[in-house]
Amino acid sequence: LDALIDRFGRSITYLRLSVTDRCDLRCRYCMPADAHFSPKRDVLTLEELAEVASAFIDRGVAKLRITGGEPLMRKNVLWLFQSLSARLADGALKELTLTTNGTRLAEFAGALAALGVRRVNVSLDTLDRALFARIARRDALPSVLSGIEAARAAGLAVKINTVALKGDNRGEIPALIEWAHERGMDLTLIEVMPMGEIGEDRLDQYVPLSELRADLGRRWTLVDCAHKTAGPARYTVVKETGGRLGFITPLTHNFCESCNRARLTCTGELYMCLGREDRADLRTALRSGGRQALDAAISEAIARKPRGHDFAINRRGGEPAVARVMAATGG
Ligand code: SAM
Ligand code: SF4
Repeated sequence: LDALIDRFGRSITYLRLSVTDRCDLRCRYCMPADAHFSPKRDVLTLEELAEVASAFIDRGVAKLRITGGEPLMRKNVLWLFQSLSARLADGALKELTLTTNGTRLAEFAGALAALGVRRVNVSLDTLDRALFARIARRDALPSVLSGIEAARAAGLAVKINTVALKGDNRGEIPALIEWAHERGMDLTLIEVMPMGEIGEDRLDQYVPLSELRADLGRRWTLVDCAHKTAGPARYTVVKETGGRLGFITPLTHNFCESCNRARLTCTGELYMCLGREDRADLRTALRSGGRQALDAAISEAIARKPRGHDFAINRRGGEPAVARVMAATGG
């Protein structure tokens, strides 16, 4: 089978696999309070998720990130990690990782580390319990913090992801960076992306990271650094703390030329671009035609990966660029 190379010459080596669209939190920038989730019959079984992941790994995907919704909410999710850890052992997969809100990490960190996970991304927007409860609509900060501690104790490298929110956490971001760097954790700031109807105006949430970066640059010396991960973040080192600070700026800075990824939803839809509606239905292919049909559907989908995304939050309002929310595609 051919490696996955699109018509712009980009190799697809990174798959983000959403294992559920459910979540125990309801972050305001991510979901509406009354979020609806996919019916069970549409959600891929763990065996199907493993099969699709394997189909990608066989064609050169070397990095797999498990996400959601909240991936640790998926029943028996360790079975999937276990199955994928065999591909780590045979060398086909170079990295198996996850993005989590951390609420259940205390329970899972040890098992994940034992299965070959080396790094986790934990989303954390504030260290203030009341503000956390307001942003996430759930009072869960203590469990997230103990989850982070458990992950570090299990030897996992933890990276913090923080969505920059005007008026909510903006003023607190330097303290959050100091907190992370004191503990040897990188922190990446993320711009709010216009995904899905969330029942609030995106313009009330959006802070351009260019502004935030300028603020931080007045407080600290930010040194550009060459550090590269498989993701789109650009990194600096904060000279005063010695820690790494990343910026993911889909709106102010386009990073599509080097895009190496695809995303699979928990219902088996393959999105070739986070910022586009186009997708391929791998579930139907797999359920009706097995592995062969799946392989053909993947080839066909990668061949039409678009050159770039369409995001913009314009002055007339924060109309979503795509209808689905982030928790559907797996951030
Ligand atoms: N529940 C897990 C978590 O929160 O880490 C994994 C899924 S979540 C959708 C992945 C990431 O997407 C989180 O870091 C979250 O902050 C981010 N996110 C969600 N909605 C977003 C949006 N509209 N714009 C930017 N980032 C968003
Ligand atoms: Fe859940 Fe993550 Fe979305 Fe927050 S950002 S509601 S934790 S999926």
